[in-house]
Amino acid sequence: MGNHLFDLIRSRMPGPDAPFALIDDGRRYSYQDVLDASARFANALASLGVKPGDRVAVQVEKSIEALMLYLGTVRAGAIFLPLNTAYTPAEIKYFLGDAEPAVFVCDPAKAEALKPYAEKAGVKLETLGVWRSADVSPGTLSDKALAAATSFTDVERGPDDLAAILYTSGTTGRSKGAMLSHDNLASNALSLVDYWRFAKDDVLLHALPIFHTHGLFVATNTILLAGASMILLAKFDPEQVFRYLPQATSMMGVPTFYVRLLQDDRLTPASTAHMRLFVSGSAPLLADTHREWRERTGHAILERYGMTETNMNTSNPYDGDRVAGTVGFPLPGVSARVVDPESGKGLGADEIGMIEVKGPNVFKGYWRNPEKAAAEFKPDGFFITGDLGKIDPAGYVHIVGRGKDLIITGGYNVYPKEVETEIEEMPGVIESAVIGVAHPDFGEGVTAVVVVKPGATITAKSIATALEQRLAKFKQPKQVFVVADLPRNTMGKVQKNLLHEQYKDIYA
Ligand code: ATP
Ligand code: MG
Repeated sequence: MGNHLFDLIRSRMPGPDAPFALIDDGRRYSYQDVLDASARFANALASLGVKPGDRVAVQVEKSIEALMLYLGTVRAGAIFLPLNTAYTPAEIKYFLGDAEPAVFVCDPAKAEALKPYAEKAGVKLETLGVWRSADVSPGTLSDKALAAATSFTDVERGPDDLAAILYTSGTTGRSKGAMLSHDNLASNALSLVDYWRFAKDDVLLHALPIFHTHGLFVATNTILLAGASMILLAKFDPEQVFRYLPQATSMMGVPTFYVRLLQDDRLTPASTAHMRLFVSGSAPLLADTHREWRERTGHAILERYGMTETNMNTSNPYDGDRVAGTVGFPLPGVSARVVDPESGKGLGADEIGMIEVKGPNVFKGYWRNPEKAAAEFKPDGFFITGDLGKIDPAGYVHIVGRGKDLIITGGYNVYPKEVETEIEEMPGVIESAVIGVAHPDFGEGVTAVVVVKPGATITAKSIATALEQRLAKFKQPKQVFVVADLPRNTMGKVQKNLLHEQYKDIYA
């Protein structure tokens, strides 16, 4: 039967000497190095007693070694379970209890703090550092891997066996562990290679974190299956981006990357002329950002839509119109529909409802939470994404926001996006977040939190007054707040839960 995901990766590899990664510490990795290093990690895990189906939990800084540990885990038939580097030891305790991994791999620098939690959970603690680096201590797992053989007989795994458990970002509540099979990952990456035309000579500028689906699966698996290469930056830093951009052909980013790069004078048609593709996702890209990027560089950012649970669902086209404010068409093999959340009835073009998706990309359920998974699948196999949106007559999917963020005020539904769009069109406004706050008369009161440009004369009062002309009374914010910035997590997602907490008493 073979190892479904790794066999595919292997079958698409270019020659052993072909480049896989240029790392920002100057090292280079060839595809032969990928085979050798992933075998070393697979051997190291096997020597620790990791068996097929065991979880390997990993909370480490971004490094090529961490990517090789991912591949080594897949080859060993185990389940890769990466954790956000921002999680505190107390949060890690929850994940170790929930995932019950066989091994927990952490940063050498954090081992002391995490040891008591690993011991309590009865989990073997190992550390992973960077190889051949003078600044980082190597780590116990790195040592084992370096001492191990560069050949490994991949453990047999079928298409439906799990390759990874990825926790969702926790934007709307506690993170859930999404179980992803070998074929969930393989099929989606294959689609993306074709849809986005990745080829051997592509070089992806990789500045995303690798504990999230975007940097780990969308970026890395796509590059592997294209036999292409990447420039691996430790993190997003405009200095590094402009230093390495001349060597790249493509970049994947969250919207905040694009917003930050637009603030830099080095972003010009000349500095991006050689680029083939800019992709954005994980959070909504403002139509303004799309427009400004096009004006400044001549490139239309390609926006796509995905989730931890589903990999990528939709994408703007490579050749056709990349329409700002939309996430494009369902990927080949993926079905998407919009239904009335109450009746479940399918809706027509331009009607807003719940987005549901089905396809080989959709996950196998939430780890140890079958009830939650059962509640989010329809009898005909469609997954209820929790995102509200519409499909326009041309077939482009538009995301209107999260179902959980829908505001019900005085019995009327208000989509925050509609109010946010009106506010964001006002001169002097950078961005906004509209939330529903408990209100004694209306149930929820529409509340706007707005970021304005430095020096802009626009005020909370003038925003409220301008909206009176533009929106029905029930959609108008009962209060408007001007703030310096919106709370965001590492993926650039606005954390409306924090805003809810902050403003919860304003109508009390
Ligand atoms: P949680 O499920 O724990 O609340 P989360 O949904 O933010 O967190 P992820 O799986 O990282 O966790 O994010 C998926 C969500 O990100 C989607 O459901 C959607 O709301 C949003 N998203 C992704 N891409 C886009 C996009 N291009 N435009 C708008 N929203 C997007
Ligand atoms: Mg989610």
